[in-house]
Amino acid sequence: MQNIKLNNGLEIPQLGLGVWKADNGQEAINAVHWALEAGYRHVDTASIYKNEEAVGRALKTASVPRKDVWLTTKIWNDDVRAGRTTTALDEALVRLKTDYIDLLLIHWPVDGYLAAWREMERALTAGKVRAIGVSNFMEEHLTDIVEQGETMPAINQIEYHPYLVQSDAIGYCDTHDIGITAWSPLMQGNFKDEPLFAGIARTYGKSPAQVILRWCLQNDIIAIPKSTNQGRIQENADIFDFELSEEHMIAIDELERGQRFGPDPLDFDF
Ligand code: NDP
Repeated sequence: MQNIKLNNGLEIPQLGLGVWKADNGQEAINAVHWALEAGYRHVDTASIYKNEEAVGRALKTASVPRKDVWLTTKIWNDDVRAGRTTTALDEALVRLKTDYIDLLLIHWPVDGYLAAWREMERALTAGKVRAIGVSNFMEEHLTDIVEQGETMPAINQIEYHPYLVQSDAIGYCDTHDIGITAWSPLMQGNFKDEPLFAGIARTYGKSPAQVILRWCLQNDIIAIPKSTNQGRIQENADIFDFELSEEHMIAIDELERGQRFGPDPLDFDF
């Protein structure tokens, strides 16, 4: 596993398992266990995924110690709006059966995010979280946090894949040394419709999904592909033994077309 050093000095594994849509039972437990067996040391959940209990159970019963796994969760919009970030974090800690979170994110930039950020800064001081960050924050939201907060976000987790690289948000984050995590790196499965990936994949004896994840890694992006299938969980981790050529990196870069598979952070209603 390869790590990326964050602006707070911590190292985050560059590949993680996303568990959105995994059910709060054996499905999520198996996915986390298979991922740890395949070498993943990073799991990405959120309170809105309603599977923190299963993720917590999986980590408790895993052969890998809790301290060796990077655990990310997120504060949901209703909690941010209601000013109950600290309470929501305490509830998440109980569900996850742990006494600390490695990375706590504000899930979306909804009203109240600055007050939520201050609560998260207090949680950092209290040792309930090791790092704090944001998700789906565009430049205007990041500026508020950077100018009015005391702690620089460690991470901004945004939609990122070959059809959507969000260069404005990434440029801002690069300037402020904020790491980027790609959500939906596999385009929610829609990569199968793009023939370029299969063509490049054949050159390396790899799969299209592995090519896309490798492209993320070589762009210094943290990727959290979701799968609940053991074979695909293993496949998505088998990306550290090859390197895409500059020509192939550029060919994938050229696919960018501003296409989202998820909501737009500047226009959403939840
Ligand atoms: P992904 O881009 O990771 O795609 C997941 C889909 O691709 C699933 O249908 C999965 O099916 C399929 N898949 C996975 N691996 C392969 C493979 N090797 N070959 C073929 N198909 C494959 O989508 P997500 O939207 O789930 O994003 C990943 C994670 O990002 C989420 O789980 C979540 O943790 C996070 N996220 C965060 C958001 C935020 O607002 N911060 C928003 C959305 C996601 P199967 O399971 O059957 O393998």
